[in-house]
Amino acid sequence: MKRIIAHWTGGNTKPNSTDLEHYHYVVDGNGTVLTGKYKPEDNENCNDSKYAQHTGGGNTGSIGIALCGMYVPNGTPVQKTQYPVTKVQCERFFKLIAELSQKYNIPITPQTVMTHYEFGKKNPKTSSYGKIDITYLPPYPSLYKEEVGDFIRSKARWYLKNL
Ligand SMILES: [Zn+2]
Repeated sequence: MKRIIAHWTGGNTKPNSTDLEHYHYVVDGNGTVLTGKYKPEDNENCNDSKYAQHTGGGNTGSIGIALCGMYVPNGTPVQKTQYPVTKVQCERFFKLIAELSQKYNIPITPQTVMTHYEFGKKNPKTSSYGKIDITYLPPYPSLYKEEVGDFIRSKARWYLKNL
């Protein structure tokens, strides 16, 4: 596995069956990690239908993890979501990145641990272009959208040192 891509589900605080098909792991609103239908290794080869489709144009070799929540009706700013992610949930998510980094020997760099938003920006010809997960973290509302990825990586590095 070569990278970890961080998402939110755009749903409520618990995963639905579609979420569990699309991500290898999700973290619910209580901070519980739930395992998806596919294993990260299923994304080593994405030439069959048996892999987690989480990042258009970037599924191969990518572990997809998601925070449950952040649903908003179309056209509504995500800041107005009725299902904001929680602090305990975010912390567990950062620790999950550290655990996966250690298990799969993936360094925590902008090239190897990124948000879906960052992937889309780097790969504008893919269907990931324009994705807004993760550009806003409700427990840390002062973060500008361009700072969220670095914030997540710095938190994950701290957890990695303290695993
Ligand atoms: Zn996404």
